[in-house]
Amino acid sequence: MIKDPKRYTVTAALIYANGPIHIGHLAGCYLPADIYVRYLRSLGKDVVFVSGTDEHGVPITIKAKNEGSTPQQVVDKYYKQIKHSFEDFGISFDIYSRTSKEAHHKVSQDYFTNLYNKKYFNEEITEQYFDESAGQFLADRYIVGTCPNCGNENAYGDQCEKCGSTLSPTELINPRSMLSGAKPVLKKTKNWYLPLDKMQPEIEAFVNSHPEWKSNVAGQCQSWLKQGLLPRAMTRDLEWGVKVPLPDTEGKVLYVWFDAPIGYITFTKEFFEKFNSEKDKKDYIYDRTTYKDLKADDWEKYWKAEDTKLVHFIGKDNIVFHCIIFPAMLIADGSYILPDNVPANEFMNLEGDKISTSRNWAVWLHEYLEEFPNRQDVLRYALCSNAPETKDNDFTWKDFQTRNNSELADIFGNFVNRVMVLTNKNFEGKIPALGNLTELDKQVITTLKDLPSKIAASLEQYRFREAQAFMMELARLGNKYLAETEPWKLIKTDIVRVKTIMNISAQITANLSIVCEPFIPFTSAKMTRMLNIPKHPWIEAGKVDLLPTGHQIKEGEILFTKIEDAEITTQIQKLEASKKANELANAVVAPAKEAVSYDDFTKMDIRVATILEAERVPKTKKLLKLKLDTGLDQRTVVSGIAEYYEPEKIIGQQVCLLANLAPRDIKGIMSQGMILMAEDKDGSLSFVSPSKMISNGGIVA
Ligand SMILES: [Zn+2]
Repeated sequence: MIKDPKRYTVTAALIYANGPIHIGHLAGCYLPADIYVRYLRSLGKDVVFVSGTDEHGVPITIKAKNEGSTPQQVVDKYYKQIKHSFEDFGISFDIYSRTSKEAHHKVSQDYFTNLYNKKYFNEEITEQYFDESAGQFLADRYIVGTCPNCGNENAYGDQCEKCGSTLSPTELINPRSMLSGAKPVLKKTKNWYLPLDKMQPEIEAFVNSHPEWKSNVAGQCQSWLKQGLLPRAMTRDLEWGVKVPLPDTEGKVLYVWFDAPIGYITFTKEFFEKFNSEKDKKDYIYDRTTYKDLKADDWEKYWKAEDTKLVHFIGKDNIVFHCIIFPAMLIADGSYILPDNVPANEFMNLEGDKISTSRNWAVWLHEYLEEFPNRQDVLRYALCSNAPETKDNDFTWKDFQTRNNSELADIFGNFVNRVMVLTNKNFEGKIPALGNLTELDKQVITTLKDLPSKIAASLEQYRFREAQAFMMELARLGNKYLAETEPWKLIKTDIVRVKTIMNISAQITANLSIVCEPFIPFTSAKMTRMLNIPKHPWIEAGKVDLLPTGHQIKEGEILFTKIEDAEITTQIQKLEASKKANELANAVVAPAKEAVSYDDFTKMDIRVATILEAERVPKTKKLLKLKLDTGLDQRTVVSGIAEYYEPEKIIGQQVCLLANLAPRDIKGIMSQGMILMAEDKDGSLSFVSPSKMISNGGIVA
């Protein structure tokens, strides 16, 4: 652990730009990172806080495929939305950038080239699945097949989501390409591997030099090291990403976990380059006034100087990349410092269930910001109170309501409001003078002086829940002090005593405005406005003369209003609706229909028929016009199967026809009967055909 760092580089995870931000992301990484950075800034430390979106990798291309758009459109859309949500929520990045920028491609290509020239990579030829009809290699996520462990027919090449087992594509039974549905073939391809096996001693020495790391982080690292590190491919056969900067590597890009963490470096560079440009500052850089005279090449100190403390905030799913693979890349380059700490959190669940984007089981930040306007601090407070620092934790709307109503409103807000109202009412808003101190006053002042260093100690150890609880203790202290001394009663009999009580209470309020800032910055800003004071640095916290006698305060504002049951019910109903929609989507079998008599069934005249001709019905998406030989006659039938069958490919196909269905006019064509179709879970249709040739007109019964 580095002692007395000269400067800090703090990074927060690079999230894939393929969906919006939810509370799990916030609790896992962005909120603790922001609390830490705000605290450092309040201490007057030299800190750069960088993050951005990861815009490469297979998840982006899959999202594009699902949305029917291009990868570029996907990342443009979500980058904007994510950046905007973070700004609204008060996550105070110095820069929030993106890995699809040309500058980042250049930096990561140079990084790769440097390691290549130093002969760090092993070239290896392996066999990978290739889709011949699509003409491309298939990433693991692009291969589906039957899970060898549980028989799930839609397991991915890297994982079965049904039984949770980790797979490799070659383990899948009956693999098929998600691009074409075709059976992929194994084909040789060359890629470049980082020999983590050979680097294991260096990586082990690095990890073991940090006994202070959180136990969940250290535990994961040790388990990887114990298994023995394996060489890892740093290039992939993919179209979307940073091109491999070597000759004859068409169709190959850098592994997304190679280029993404280099993004932290690129964004730091970008910050220093743009800092002096008013326009760029507005576009990328959070409101900052603490830096002066930064030069473009200053970035290097933040990544290369030994007296810089580098801290990566991430969720637990990224531990291996930040504690092993990225450090290995940094070691291989040789000119960079290694992370001092990686305080990863575990996962935040929601109402007892794992947060899931695909199942829409989440509280989305952009929706929260719309539905709870100006209540950023309530969510910040609730998430930090319950942060999954050592184990997975659960967010519930009831807990959110209780945190707001019973803690923020009843304690913090109530205390500050009483101070404002009583001072304005009894002393014309001027801080009254301190008189003789009672034992109680002295106790309160001692606790007030102690708390800021307790909060700081917890923050320095990345114990944010504990730190916030100490902050709340200060509000509790003030609230209890007023409740016990009852200045509103005393005012009639002992104004001198009331002056002392109100002076001490006002000092507590001013202290609160300093120590609450990292956690609930919007509230802190309101408080400094109300108290009519500048934003004080952390060093001032614990002082009892922040507000001099006679200092004029302003009118108070209500800091926290109660959250009504109805608002919570609305949110819970919204989640229940998601659950219902998921159940529907997962429904495999439609419920049974009512019983019918055999006579009813025999009224249906179902015949085997052969398709003679087929053509699309103009100006429709779904309809084919078919000519059938039914054995009885040749007739025309219109069928809604154009999404599933090419007309030219079904000539000669035998089908089953409900031949005595009354003729119907469909788009101006008289359809004489209905072809029986079987419907799959996803709504796709398939002919029902006899398993061997049957003469046309054969009866189905
Ligand atoms: Zn399985």
